[in-house]
Amino acid sequence: MTDYETIKAENKRAIESAKETIRTRNPGKQFVEKMNKYIATLEKKNQYGRFGVVDSYPDNPVGVTTTHEFGHYLADIFCGQINGEKAWKDSGKMSYPLVAQPKQQAIRKAFEKAATDGDIYKISAYSATNQHEFFAETFTMREMGEPLPDYIKEMLEEVLR
Ligand SMILES: [Zn+2]
Repeated sequence: MTDYETIKAENKRAIESAKETIRTRNPGKQFVEKMNKYIATLEKKNQYGRFGVVDSYPDNPVGVTTTHEFGHYLADIFCGQINGEKAWKDSGKMSYPLVAQPKQQAIRKAFEKAATDGDIYKISAYSATNQHEFFAETFTMREMGEPLPDYIKEMLEEVLR
């Protein structure tokens, strides 16, 4: 498993090195702009508390990973998040767009709000990958009894209802 703190420390060193280059080598304006973008990206990455929820459970990586994967399965069953209507055929007679679309929209809205409000940094870096990982990671947090903002708890309830 990746030691996320090691990655963060490496990012910090890269940030310092980039700043040092700008300070001491007097590079051109375009180069400075590129370096500042690079610095901003690394600083953003370093705001995450962990790479994945599983990082917080070194004694139970298999159980937590299974919970994460189960989250993907549920998102597929309840709103076709991965396989669309294919997953829907066995799940009942109700119209796929009628039931699945509002649930998918709830995930999207919570994902966007978490990114805007910065809550994403308290979830995990992996959860920022896309809406699938966001759902699986927040589902895992709930199952592990971790605190979550109300709007994310509500999203999980809406999807799984
Ligand atoms: Zn996943």
